[in-house]
Amino acid sequence: MDAELLRQYLEFYQDLGIKTLYRRQASLAGESACPTPIPMEPPPRAPVGQALPPANPVHIDLPPLAPTGDTLLNIMEDIGDCHRCRLSAARNKIVFGVGNPQSPLVFVGEGPGADEDAQGIPFVGRAGQLLTQMIEGTAKKEGIELLRKDIYIANVVKCRPPENRTPEPDEMEICGQFLHRQLLAIRPKVICALGGTAARALTGHKEGVTKMRGKWFQWQDIPVMVTYHPSYLLRPYNQDAKREAWEDLKKVLHYVYD
Ligand code: URA
Repeated sequence: MDAELLRQYLEFYQDLGIKTLYRRQASLAGESACPTPIPMEPPPRAPVGQALPPANPVHIDLPPLAPTGDTLLNIMEDIGDCHRCRLSAARNKIVFGVGNPQSPLVFVGEGPGADEDAQGIPFVGRAGQLLTQMIEGTAKKEGIELLRKDIYIANVVKCRPPENRTPEPDEMEICGQFLHRQLLAIRPKVICALGGTAARALTGHKEGVTKMRGKWFQWQDIPVMVTYHPSYLLRPYNQDAKREAWEDLKKVLHYVYD
């Protein structure tokens, strides 16, 4: 594998949120049985018109750059009865995602709460009802014909964190690969990140949601709008935030549907 192709692979895995790769033992005959982490820094690009010096040829078996023809069904099958992280211990249902798999708009939340864990559907509790009202109400006011069933909704983690705590970085990394595959399979025109966890997972930025909201970021080549999580908007003293979230949503809807 040449350096340019290796760089493309590493960039792709980095975009998927994967920070460490392991060389297969089969290609390491005579070396330690312990897998060797390869840091996720892509090799430098060759300066224009200048080739990189030949690298030591190390054979690494990597799956294709993008799982070709990946579908939501494949992803759901790959998740299976997942026990890849500790969140599986207390969950009732895996909350995969819901909506139109061809939607030009995807909303991404943090993780299931109690209602979602019981039903296996994202955003069905109080926050979910507010999200539905916000989407359908804003669309109607803006003259856009849109119902919740027309868009797609998913979460960063697919199992309910105990006591609705924020997902841990390793949980987000493990489960995030499935969100990223969902986004690659759907390829929406815009992603709307609901709250800080989704914003951090999709943009890599660490600022608080108040600083990030209302602004466009990018996940791969897809624009990402960050706004408040509907649970935050349910708190009675957050009237300004509610107005701001409506403004953010208007921007998103006009960008996608005008
Ligand atoms: N909060 C989320 O982030 N996601 C849900 O599905 C429900 C509540």
